[in-house]
Amino acid sequence: MNYKKKDPNIIVSPKVEIYIDKIAKRFKDKFSKVLVVTSGLRTPEQQARAMYNNFRADNGVKIQRRKYRNRKLFDEIAAVFTSNKVKDKVKVINEMTKVIRKQVSRKEYISQHLIESAVDIRTRGLLNEEIDYLVELIKSNASLMYQDKRNSNIPHIHIQLKSCGKAKSQENDQPIRLPFQNQIKTIWV
Ligand SMILES: [Zn+2]
Repeated sequence: MNYKKKDPNIIVSPKVEIYIDKIAKRFKDKFSKVLVVTSGLRTPEQQARAMYNNFRADNGVKIQRRKYRNRKLFDEIAAVFTSNKVKDKVKVINEMTKVIRKQVSRKEYISQHLIESAVDIRTRGLLNEEIDYLVELIKSNASLMYQDKRNSNIPHIHIQLKSCGKAKSQENDQPIRLPFQNQIKTIWV
């Protein structure tokens, strides 16, 4: 294995691992640095927890909404948070988890991390030119797509399989432009 996992419990599915391992090998050969996977398969509960934490910030729901391609799924999950006035953490995460589970059972995924086809690579500790090279490696692989989140709160590159990204509801799946970015970036969270 040419990459490391931040946590041994992280699951990287074999489908995506073959690509990640090759990319990590080429990266290691060039820079003598080992890429770290910070997230792989997420359970609905982990997804709910991550979204809950993001929602808690000022204007959290509004800001997060811009980052998700599938607004219908997002709104179903966010409605649980918005309608609960007390924001009781355990209760709200529990309810959000149920909504996400229902979506998954309909084969609708708010995040590709729910279907084993996505991984996040840590960019903290990497130089910009190294991250650029990583992005080039991903781009050169026709099966992969990515999001460059090196400037986000938790800096990383999100990588996912293209075939999964084209799953459902193509019509409202247009790439979106975030107002604070000067470059068009396609957002799959
Ligand atoms: Zn990701």
